[in-house]
Amino acid sequence: MTAQELVQEAFNRLATRSGYDNRSDQVQLALTLSDLIGEKTSGIFEAPTGLGKSLAALIPAIANAIASNKRTVIATYTNVLAEQYWRKDLPLALSLFDDHCETAFLIGRQRYACLVGMDEAMPREVEYLQRNMELGTESEFRRFVPKNDRELNQLWQKVQTPPVCPARACPVYDDCFYYNARKKLEKAKVVITNHSVVIQDALGTDVELEREGMLFAYDYLVIDEAHDFPAAAINGLEFEISSPRLASLVGVATRLENLVDSLAVRAGEGGDWHRATDKFRNEIQKSVVSLGLLSQQVQQSGIVGVSPPEVDEHPAVQQMSAKDQVTHVEAIAEKVRLACELHSHEVGTRLERYRAEVQGPEGRTIYESSRNYISYIRDFAVGAGELSHPTGTSVSYIGLNRSEAILRRDLIDLKETLQPLLWDRVAYACLSATLQIDGDFEHFERTTGVRPLFKEILPSPYDFSTQCALYLPKGDKIPDPTTSRGGDMEQIYYHAIAQELSEMIETLGGRTLALFHSRKEMEGVRQYMKVSDDLPILMQGRGGIATVGEQFKKNTFSSLFALRSFWTGFDAPGETCSCVALVRIPFEVPVEPSVVARMAYLSQQGLDPFKHHSLPNAKMIMRQGAGRLIRSNNDKGVIALLDPRLRTKRYGEEILANFPQEIRVFDDFVDAAGWVGLG
Ligand code: SF4
Repeated sequence: MTAQELVQEAFNRLATRSGYDNRSDQVQLALTLSDLIGEKTSGIFEAPTGLGKSLAALIPAIANAIASNKRTVIATYTNVLAEQYWRKDLPLALSLFDDHCETAFLIGRQRYACLVGMDEAMPREVEYLQRNMELGTESEFRRFVPKNDRELNQLWQKVQTPPVCPARACPVYDDCFYYNARKKLEKAKVVITNHSVVIQDALGTDVELEREGMLFAYDYLVIDEAHDFPAAAINGLEFEISSPRLASLVGVATRLENLVDSLAVRAGEGGDWHRATDKFRNEIQKSVVSLGLLSQQVQQSGIVGVSPPEVDEHPAVQQMSAKDQVTHVEAIAEKVRLACELHSHEVGTRLERYRAEVQGPEGRTIYESSRNYISYIRDFAVGAGELSHPTGTSVSYIGLNRSEAILRRDLIDLKETLQPLLWDRVAYACLSATLQIDGDFEHFERTTGVRPLFKEILPSPYDFSTQCALYLPKGDKIPDPTTSRGGDMEQIYYHAIAQELSEMIETLGGRTLALFHSRKEMEGVRQYMKVSDDLPILMQGRGGIATVGEQFKKNTFSSLFALRSFWTGFDAPGETCSCVALVRIPFEVPVEPSVVARMAYLSQQGLDPFKHHSLPNAKMIMRQGAGRLIRSNNDKGVIALLDPRLRTKRYGEEILANFPQEIRVFDDFVDAAGWVGLG
């Protein structure tokens, strides 16, 4: 059978399962993807919530594996979503085929437990882990560790797989969770992973040297939740010098020292070997001290270097320049670079010598494992060099984590890096429920550099004309947030928002998710809220978000005030979420050095940063926030847009044009709720 026939047959079988109907758009998406995988053609799709895009991606991937041996990697943003693919959607998709298809799952190495670490930390638990944690991942660990057991919870830091390890030279390599997961990859035809693994794999792949990355060569890449891919790429491609990173670097050098110790002793150089590592530790320790001194001197983040250099002349970059600290930053980065370069060179040379003197399988295994450590230290040298002298399109800056200075290098333009790294190397399909803006993919294409041949915006399976109403408060009910900064005006603004939200919550009997742009604003509004005692308002705290989200879902009478992490990915179907209030247009405030440099770079390219960065991002985030409301065919509710600029500014019209046009608009909340049968 051809892949197309297999896809069609899988959907016919799915339709016979209870609870599943064939949705024509889902089948159409799967058939198109199947063609694209077969022809290795790149595509981009907006596939709205409720369409069932996980199955629409998995079924053609499996069909092409069976029909033509194609190997597909499916990557989503978070580990939670990747596990959902692996544990829930993939078994269902596989059950729709007669033929076997080899599959595998891989997330970042630090999400796996290291058996050596476990053994050192709490030996009894190793056995427990091996018995109960098939994958040995952090999520499985969390399932068996009681939530309130702080001591056990902190253990994860100690037992997670380190950034580099002896791998094959490890005595428990055969049982290792992480390496077993990687071993399964080679044979797998469908691989489930996350965005950052895709980036790491791409960094480790060298086509010219015929070096394969950790995912091995694959035919097709499906990127789900593609709107989050730029964030994952920026994180995956950053470089940072901070106290924890330097401590981790010293840890790597020490593990390398211990690994090679037996070879050095046998070669008669035990003492020299330890002295070499001591010297390296001392040099890095001096950098830790310098970083500490810098922390005492800087009160705010500042840019120390930008590439291309013309961007440096932009007034916003000049204003944020940490000119007086450039010499310090360069000195720290240079010291780290030099120490790493010298140490990796020295241990590399010694290792070659020991290898010649100590033959046999044990010597060989140690030699091979040591190469991983040496590459890690050498890569650190390269990163430190780029931090002190940024190249390509990047910015180096001093950031502050609490009061500790961190030195960081971020990309300010992704396309230059991603095109050779990924897009030119492999065919791909980008999928997301919110990827187009103003009816096309121009913004995503321009920021990421994707060049798909096929583009499609699929319609939503929901009927927004009856399931949803849009509430826009009348003219002067709420002051303009930009003219209400500080003092009495700010309090008047908070009070007006609180009054609106209080009325909405009273009308609906709770059931409201209010999404804020900043904690200050959320707390400012909360103090003026006046609702009945039996309608609790939950607030997103500074800790984990899962608990408060679960509380909101369980208690239908509750409302939730939340921040950025709830604008995307939060799923609360049913009546518990009958209103989503977007308090303010989420324009990114350019306070982060990387954002300032990114905007300056756009200016330098002749583009308007507001039009080409802030506004499209705000449109996208507004759509994502509003998307929390209708999550099933039975859901109904009101989207409340409380920012008056949506009525008064020209860009307000543009933002509103990105909401489904069939939604009826009201300027009275009770009328809006009544229209959808609530209140
Ligand atoms: S191979 Fe590495 S990660 Fe696995 S158990 Fe050994 S040291 Fe830990």
